[in-house]
Amino acid sequence: MRIRCPHCGERDNGEFSYLGDAAPVRPDGLAVEAAAMHDYVYLRDNLAGEIRELWYHAAGCRGWLVVTRDTRTHAISDVSPARDAALARRKGEAA
Ligand SMILES: [Zn+2]
Repeated sequence: MRIRCPHCGERDNGEFSYLGDAAPVRPDGLAVEAAAMHDYVYLRDNLAGEIRELWYHAAGCRGWLVVTRDTRTHAISDVSPARDAALARRKGEAA
């Protein structure tokens, strides 16, 4: 599988580390219920289809990326800096 890093260009996936699903958001604050933190840490869906994932370009720019990939075919439809996704998420929360 090849990943087109927005900073470095197309590279082999061996240069990257996979973190997992980019959708879960860490519960915030000291008053978080243990069950909510348990769900965040341990429970993930195993979707067959397009999913947004976090990848780290360890052997390149050392940037965090959000890769949109189809888990059935490994076809990648989008790669963007994770910072952009985090800022867009923050904007969505503020609206
Ligand atoms: Zn890179």
